[in-house]
Amino acid sequence: MSHLAIADISLSALRHNFSIIKNKVGNRRILAMVKADAYGHGLLHVAKALSHTDAFGVATIAAGMHLREAGITQPIRVMTGFDSLAELKQIVEYNLCTVVHNAYQLPILQQLTAKEAVLDVWLKVDTGMHRLGLMPDELAGAAKKIERIKYIKKPLGIMTHYADADNLKTTFTDQQYQLFKTLTHSFAGPKSVGNSAAILQYPNELMDWVRPGIMLYGVSPLAKQTGMDLGLQPVMTLRSKLVAVKNIKAGEYIGYGCTYRATKDMRYGVVGIGYGDGYPRSAKTGTPVLVNNSRCPLIGRVSMDMITVDLTQAPHAKVGDTVVLWGDALPAEEVANCANTIAYELFCKLTQRTLVVEK
Ligand SMILES: *Cc1c(COP(=O)(O)O)cnc(C)c1O
Repeated sequence: MSHLAIADISLSALRHNFSIIKNKVGNRRILAMVKADAYGHGLLHVAKALSHTDAFGVATIAAGMHLREAGITQPIRVMTGFDSLAELKQIVEYNLCTVVHNAYQLPILQQLTAKEAVLDVWLKVDTGMHRLGLMPDELAGAAKKIERIKYIKKPLGIMTHYADADNLKTTFTDQQYQLFKTLTHSFAGPKSVGNSAAILQYPNELMDWVRPGIMLYGVSPLAKQTGMDLGLQPVMTLRSKLVAVKNIKAGEYIGYGCTYRATKDMRYGVVGIGYGDGYPRSAKTGTPVLVNNSRCPLIGRVSMDMITVDLTQAPHAKVGDTVVLWGDALPAEEVANCANTIAYELFCKLTQRTLVVEK
């Protein structure tokens, strides 16, 4: 058997989600986050389909180079910046944009001797997430030093990242926003805050550039709503097939560890997908799976190449029938919940064996 697990990527759903975001953010500019192979959806076809985005965000220089080589013309920002002169030179050579988030990058930047390039830099300030970013008291000094460097575009851009924008119960995002506003008051350049959660929950605390990721792919970052609830369409549908249909008697077990024991005589199916394809091993008994559009519960342990499902709700199911693991009619958010994770991780963990197909 070959490639039973297939991730269909709907580029029309992607474009639909982009237009929803566009409507929400008005005349703000959009930097579409396509890191981690476009959240597992396939970098190149996603980037090509997002022809109306103002820019792209990636996590690695290699991804940026890949986009340039494929003919993408919009600005591409490497969100993690650079940590050596060699990396900085690659950024310049491929006409990528960068981020300065730490003082150790300044002496590297000062060695820049690019001839024609004008490097586009955003400074990143840490307003409370405490991951990447210059500390507030370092910001003005770093900006002064960078502004003195010849080959850098002025005015500098400036950004921060919200730690808790999916939460409406605290004032943490408001505090980050206020601090960012105060710190950047005298900066003339473009300002950027706001991932998907901030776009949805803090529309008054966005600035010139927003940086949506998960929403583009049709998924909600919020615990209380799915992407479908928000009018988004799932871009990825992960599917496979029934490779066996069998019967079991009450009292018998299914799968490794004998964790599932039938309470009645029942019909069940074996589906050709497992953690070897990226389906999470942590998905527990009861996780929904669609067999011929009927919801059937996963039963027993997920193994490397197979899962087993209770077919009571799909009595006509037969070998070869399509099984949907998430996507159309089955939100990835719901599956993620059953596997103690988030849809972001489900998407990113698909393996090489899963065929990613645009449609
Ligand atoms: C990943 C990322 C985003 C997008 O986050 P989503 O929750 O997927 O919208 C925005 N900004 C930065 C800096 C990121 O790394």
